[in-house]
Amino acid sequence: MTSEGVAERLRRLQERVAEAALRVGRKPEEVRILGASKGQPLEKIREAVAAGLSLIGENYVQEAERKKEALGDLPLSWHLIGHLQKNKAKKALALFDLIQTVDRPELVRKLSTLTEKMGRTLPVFIQVNLGYEKTKAGVLPEDLFELARLVRDLPGLELRGLMTIPPYKEDPEAVRPYFRRLRELRDDLRERLDLESLTELSMGMSHDFEVAVEEGATIVRLGTALFGPRPSKGGV
Ligand SMILES: *Cc1c(COP(=O)(O)O)cnc(C)c1O
Repeated sequence: MTSEGVAERLRRLQERVAEAALRVGRKPEEVRILGASKGQPLEKIREAVAAGLSLIGENYVQEAERKKEALGDLPLSWHLIGHLQKNKAKKALALFDLIQTVDRPELVRKLSTLTEKMGRTLPVFIQVNLGYEKTKAGVLPEDLFELARLVRDLPGLELRGLMTIPPYKEDPEAVRPYFRRLRELRDDLRERLDLESLTELSMGMSHDFEVAVEEGATIVRLGTALFGPRPSKGGV
C-alpha cells in the first residue's frame, strides 16, 4: 500500500464518522478515531499520524513497547485496548496514557497502588462483556456498578468511560442493541456514582463503527479499515 493508502482511508473514515454523527444530531468532533494498530508495521502508523491520526490503541504490552521505542517522537496518545495481566501492569503504566480494559477488582487495586506510588493519576475505561462471551474479557454488566465504584473510590485512577467488544455479527445492525446498552450503562453510572468525568464510550470497529457512532460512541477503534489487512497475527 502506498502512503496515499492510509491517508486517503483516514480521510474517508473521518467523513463516514462525521456523516453518522450528523444523522443523529451529534457533532462530528465528539467522535475520535483510534487506530487499532496490532500487527501493523511502523510505517503505516507514521503515515496515519502524518495524515492527522492522534490516538493509537495497542493490544499487547510487549508489542507496544517495541513500537513506542520507534515512534516515541510522534504526537500520539497511546491507549491499551487488550487484556492486561496484573504482572504487566507496571510496564503498561510506563507505556500508556490510558487503559481501556480495566475489568476486575484485583487489577483496579494493583493499578491504584502503582499510580499512587508514582504520584500520578491514570485515566481508565472499564471494559464490559455485554455478550456474556466466555472467550472475551470484560466485567459482566451485573458486576459493573461495584467495579466502577471501586475505581471511583481508590486513589490514582479516574474513570473516564466504558469500552466494549460486542459479539461478532455479519450485520452491523444486529449489534446496535449492544452499543445502546453500553450508552445506557454509562448514563446510569454517571448519575448513580455522581461522576462528571465519565463521558466516553469506546465502541465500534471497522465493520460496525457507523452504528456505534449513531448510538453515542466517542471513540471508534479502527484497525483493518484504516491500516489494511493485518500482515501478521499479534507480532509486528
Ligand atoms: C483489533 C481490534 C480492533 C480493530 O479491529 P478491526 O476490525 O480491524 O477494525 C478494535 N478493538 C480491539 C479491542 C481490537 O483488538
